[in-house]
Amino acid sequence: MLASRAVSRNLADPLLAPPDPAAAAEPLPAPAGPPPGAGPSLPGPTRSIVLVGMPGAGKSAIGKRLAARLGLPFLDADTEIENAAGMTVAEIFSRYGEAHFRDGERRVINRIAAGPPVVLATGGGAYADARTRRALRESGAVTLWLRADIPVLKRRIIGRSNRPLFIGRDPEEVLRGLMAARYPFYAEADLALDCGEDTPEVTTLRVERAILGWQRPARLPVALSTGAYEVVVGAGLLARAGGLLAPHLPSRRVAVVSDASVAALHLPTLRAGLTEGGFDIRAEVLVPPGEGSKRMSMLEEVLEGLLAGGADRGTAVIALGGGVVGDLAGFAAAVALRGLPFVQVPTTLLAQVDSSVGGKTGVNLSAGKNLAGAFHQPRIVLADTDTLGTLPPRELRAGWGEVAKHGLLQGPLWEWCEARGPAAMAGDAEALRHAVLESCRLKAGVVVADEREEAPEGGRALLNLGHTFAHALEAECGYDGTLLHGEAVGVGLGLAAALSARLGHCSQEWPGRVMEHLASVGLPARLRDLPRPFSAEALVGRMRKDKKVRDGAMRFVLMRGAGDVFTTAEVPPEAVMALLRDEGAG
Ligand code: NAD
Ligand code: ZN
Repeated sequence: MLASRAVSRNLADPLLAPPDPAAAAEPLPAPAGPPPGAGPSLPGPTRSIVLVGMPGAGKSAIGKRLAARLGLPFLDADTEIENAAGMTVAEIFSRYGEAHFRDGERRVINRIAAGPPVVLATGGGAYADARTRRALRESGAVTLWLRADIPVLKRRIIGRSNRPLFIGRDPEEVLRGLMAARYPFYAEADLALDCGEDTPEVTTLRVERAILGWQRPARLPVALSTGAYEVVVGAGLLARAGGLLAPHLPSRRVAVVSDASVAALHLPTLRAGLTEGGFDIRAEVLVPPGEGSKRMSMLEEVLEGLLAGGADRGTAVIALGGGVVGDLAGFAAAVALRGLPFVQVPTTLLAQVDSSVGGKTGVNLSAGKNLAGAFHQPRIVLADTDTLGTLPPRELRAGWGEVAKHGLLQGPLWEWCEARGPAAMAGDAEALRHAVLESCRLKAGVVVADEREEAPEGGRALLNLGHTFAHALEAECGYDGTLLHGEAVGVGLGLAAALSARLGHCSQEWPGRVMEHLASVGLPARLRDLPRPFSAEALVGRMRKDKKVRDGAMRFVLMRGAGDVFTTAEVPPEAVMALLRDEGAG
């Protein structure tokens, strides 16, 4: 025993030791870019590229070719380990066991990932180690999972004597066991690519294209007193949902709540992404699309559906949809079994820029909107900007109402909105990503400073810029789809700017500037753009009943300029009435 431990320590030393100073002094060649004509003209990656996957997936064959194309050095983790230990992987396994090997493997990989960029092929089990995954994530390396099916893998590994896990065993059986155990972890790689029967040259080109065309999703922390969570913004997140969610949830059990329209378009992708990550989807509960689903009886149906599917205390509820699904599913998660972990996967622009962040959940009552609910923060928000591609244009524009609001609250974001709003509404992916990310950043900042909307002035209430008018307009329309919330917010922003100017808080150019921007993105900008008439008296009557009213005084959010807004109860009702009349209300 003792002797073996001593030998084991001897073996471990070269693996654990910091890099040899002489070797460290000799810098690895800087990425030189591909030889002329051999590849893209983009500069070589500044981060290491790490290939993970099953034995036989082609990590070394592809890795070498990829490294040559990108002008990076190629390293094979197993070879590095063998060099460090002075014996083969098979010998390390048979003499000291797998746990010892993994320990050394992790240290070698950490060391390489922390150094200058390389292409690194890892052993099949490396990425199944939680600490290795975390170290790679933190190093900023791009991880890519090379997927191949059993017949391909089997053909490639047969006859290779240096695969300790396969010695003396049926390769197919071993592969199946390894796949079941490792796929959920491979799913946490940044990218996944099926390589199948293609030649290494073809697969290398596809890998290169995937890596160069990939943009790391942005991760925005929301640091609440009760714990921090992240808003992840990027493309293709649904397909990678399993890997993205796993590190943030207590178990791999989930239940999905969605509406029928969204489910038809996006649930198959989410389902595949979750399954790839080894998640057990206990229930899929679908509600009819539309505001009508945000009611108590539907909440009960959702709760019954979750529990009938076998949701337990460790099952996370995933809301896949717009604000309606997010508010309803979030409320269900808050009360089911006295509170289940919750995940927001917003699919409308409004939900991505607004409702999915902040933790407000709830349903409507006949007395008014959102009158029953709970604060229930998500564990993580996945804002997949690809889902916006299927959103009806009117819904996309409505979401912009909230983006413009965030612009006015934030300042520089307003000027960006004026410059890039029309492009975003035409589907420009980068503009949409920026709008979502910066909106979430603004909202997260406000929410963190006033988690439960208790600040006497300012705070979360600032997010209601334009909303005193918007809520009144929506209530007058009866939430029947004549006027979407974001459209009402747009008109409300114009009115808030006009009221601010009339009361002398901001310069006279602001109302025109706000309305011009709304028109430029195709939103109704003024009361008279709306398809029905309104009575000024009825609107002011609604405002007096708004749940934000305190001590009978209407509260408004007014502006001095972009980035300078404030809450006030000092607005004479006559001024509001006069403004509404001048804007065309009867
Ligand atoms: P919504 O959820 O009703 O979605 C709008 C429509 O778009 C629906 O018909 C839906 O089926 C469809 N849809 C959604 N995603 C789609 C996609 N990717 N492709 C095609 N169709 C898609 O409405 P919304 O505007 O997202 O949200 C409005 C709700 O959000 C309101 O109930 C509002 O009260 C609430 N809200 C909540 C908060 C909060 O902080 N919790 C903030 C703002 C708004
Ligand atoms: Zn709103």
